Amino acid sequence: MSVDVVDVVGIGAGPSNLGLAAAIDERNRAGGEPLTVRIFERKPSFGWHPGMLLDGATMQIAFLKDLVTLRNPRSPFGFLSYLEERGRLVDFVNHQTFFPTRIEFTDYLGWVADSVDAGIDYGSDVTRIDRCDGGDGARFEVAVTGPNGAEVVRARSVVVGSGLRERLPEWAYGPRMFHNHRILEHLAALDVRDESPRFLVVGGGQSAAEVLRHLHSEYPAAVVESVFNSYGFQPADDSPYANRVFDPDAVDDFFGAAPAVRSELMDRHRTTNYGCVDLELIQELYAIEYTEKVRGRRRLWMHPVTEVIAAREDGNGVDVSVRERLTGEVWTRRYAAVVCATGFRSVGASEVLAHWRIADNSVTVRRDYQLAVDGDPVPGLYVQGATEETHGLASTLLSNIAVRSGEILDSLLMDAPSTVAPAGSENE
Ligand SMILES: Cc1cc2nc3c(=O)[nH]c(=O)nc-3n(C[C@H](O)[C@H](O)[C@H](O)COP(=O)(O)OP(=O)(O)OC[C@H]3O[C@@H](n4cnc5c(N)ncnc54)[C@H](O)[C@@H]3O)c2cc1C
Repeated sequence: MSVDVVDVVGIGAGPSNLGLAAAIDERNRAGGEPLTVRIFERKPSFGWHPGMLLDGATMQIAFLKDLVTLRNPRSPFGFLSYLEERGRLVDFVNHQTFFPTRIEFTDYLGWVADSVDAGIDYGSDVTRIDRCDGGDGARFEVAVTGPNGAEVVRARSVVVGSGLRERLPEWAYGPRMFHNHRILEHLAALDVRDESPRFLVVGGGQSAAEVLRHLHSEYPAAVVESVFNSYGFQPADDSPYANRVFDPDAVDDFFGAAPAVRSELMDRHRTTNYGCVDLELIQELYAIEYTEKVRGRRRLWMHPVTEVIAAREDGNGVDVSVRERLTGEVWTRRYAAVVCATGFRSVGASEVLAHWRIADNSVTVRRDYQLAVDGDPVPGLYVQGATEETHGLASTLLSNIAVRSGEILDSLLMDAPSTVAPAGSENE
């Protein structure tokens, strides 16, 4: 294969493609013909949902579900190795938690990005993927626009790990109505710290609850209101049996199940991840509201069983109309900003291929995350994350990244030119 051809191009330097890069690095260190990796990331530097790095926000997942441990507990890229290198191993043990802050976990992910043997190009947006048959092993031409202009990279395999898409209500437009995913930058731009702002947070999930707590504590003069559909926040079910839905084995169970059973299981177990809030955070918010009732000075207001029906922004604020779903009553109030904690859209494999204009007909994902069009596998094209419908609830989360990376690596090696030894060979 030509030296100009990269073995694996990753689109997106999020946890998914970092996990894969770690698996490839470990294999390269073990000997044999190394696989070359280049990852393109549109952000200017490493970041993991930087707009939601709120003080005090913790991981919803045990640190042992880092990028490698469930695949290889001896990996040099585990969270414990990171702690040791940062000089905090003993301190973390004394901390007695399985759930580090999101700020610390981001630092861990950035440490993996810096340590792993892969070329990561930041500020580089992948704009096109074309299939090709160059005869030199290249099967794809990947067009990238980066700090040094446009470039076409020839690759044997491409792994798309481009993440989720924000879901914004139709009525939300303008700088004072924004998705929570980028709340920190939007708030900084609004600069309402010196005023006594009234904020509205729309949504009833973990992000909504985190944003309520953040606004309430960071803006001591603010009134913070919450509009959500249900009667009360639903606690996240992280009990041990329910948590099994995120196990590596659950992927086989989901993948092999009839579509009707799959979708029934998804519905039953939605509150392990969607539209739910950590019980501790629910209790914290309740305690804040109750204390304010006792003191007679209210800043936090909950509006359950409500929905926003219209919003109109002018230069200084947003007039929002809210319908009480139990009575039908509609009220309108003015807010300095409206934060839409309205979730994300899990992108399906068809949408991924349509986006890259590789195919718009019947797209499926194989168990090894390789894409197929009209039932025919597209050799070398893989997707991470966009597989919830077929591979289950862990697809968009961190839970299964370690094991999934190993599975994709095995598939890449089975398919690699003969100079590269498959996993499990004497080179391993
Ligand atoms: C606030 C927040 C907290 C979360 N907390 C948890 C948690 O505690 N536990 C958990 O399991 N999950 C959590 N999640 C779910 C989250 O989706 C996963 O943790 C994880 O980020 C998925 O990794 P990924 O690499 O697939 O996608 P992402 O992390 O979204 O990374 C995708 C990357 O691709 C880049 N990209 C996209 N398109 C292009 C392109 N064309 N060219 C170049 N780069 C591109 C993006 O900039 C991005 O950096 C959280 C999500 C959010 C939003």
